[in-house]
Amino acid sequence: MHVLITGGAGFIGSHLAEALLARGDSVAALDDLSTGNFQHIAHLRHHPNFSFAIESVHNGQVLDRLASQADAIVHLAAAVGVQLVVEKPTETIETNVLGTDAVLRTARRYRCRTLIASTSEVYGKSAEIPFNEEGDLLLGPSSRSRWGYAASKLVDEFLGLAAYQEYGLPVTVARFFNTVGPRQTGRYGMVVPRFVRQGLTGAPITVYGDGEQSRCFCHVADVTQALLSLLDQPGTTAGQIYNIGSNREVTINQLAQLVIDHTDSGSQIEYVPYSEAYAPGFEDMRRRVPDIRKIHDAIGWTPTHSLEEILDSVIEYERKRFEIRD
Ligand code: UDP
Repeated sequence: MHVLITGGAGFIGSHLAEALLARGDSVAALDDLSTGNFQHIAHLRHHPNFSFAIESVHNGQVLDRLASQADAIVHLAAAVGVQLVVEKPTETIETNVLGTDAVLRTARRYRCRTLIASTSEVYGKSAEIPFNEEGDLLLGPSSRSRWGYAASKLVDEFLGLAAYQEYGLPVTVARFFNTVGPRQTGRYGMVVPRFVRQGLTGAPITVYGDGEQSRCFCHVADVTQALLSLLDQPGTTAGQIYNIGSNREVTINQLAQLVIDHTDSGSQIEYVPYSEAYAPGFEDMRRRVPDIRKIHDAIGWTPTHSLEEILDSVIEYERKRFEIRD
């Protein structure tokens, strides 16, 4: 299979490219390197089945050429991280909605199997834990830019499902829940790489709010496996939405302590108010836990990496990066 990955130099995209190549598929990665990183795919560039274009999904000509050669498109190019979303709301909405629109129009032209990346953010403040794909979505007011991200991703979902319903395009929507692992950067606010960096350097571990908010962290290798299986089974999964995540819930306070333990760090926890960390009036999700029965029933997927394994793999990766710089 020849797969076009938009956002192919990103955190998830680069891991997916590796996994596809490892099983004999060929990959074209498209990335404008706005938040992607060429270093993530530098080791693949001489692989005979790999090609890379530094371009945006908004370049219709390049997108058309790459899609015309592809059997499938995995659309991962999107605005990344809550921090960026709060700082650049216009760019966030445009990148998400216009980018997905462009990808789906092109996919329709060549009848490409298409996976659209969405996010657990679409569940918003829903209290129906665990979040089920058929559950109601509860977003906050449009005066708070965080919700623009969720709303734009929802439009992406609607566009994808509409292309399936109206044009029979085999589209599947993947809702990612806090994917973590090596190569994820803390630059856009993600908690695990930030805490690990802080732990390794002995800096204070910055817990936002009271730290009793919870998340479920899933290893990128597990997420990649889910994407491969979804790609392979359009008959079962086209026209469907799937949660992809771990269902082990951990509070941010517990996460901070685990990072301190696993990095053997003398770091102290420092509590930072949300208004300082993000912006005044910022609303966080108190709990976020996926119901993952649907994807398990459809393709037999279930996460395999524990939180401890995840942290160790991130710690090892970050340690190596420090060594390279020293
Ligand atoms: N967080 C934190 N300290 C940090 C970065 C994030 O306490 O330095 C918190 C953040 O407020 C949220 C959780 O960790 O409650 C997960 O944040 P992340 O940005 O990784 O993902 P989100 O779940 O917000 O999309």
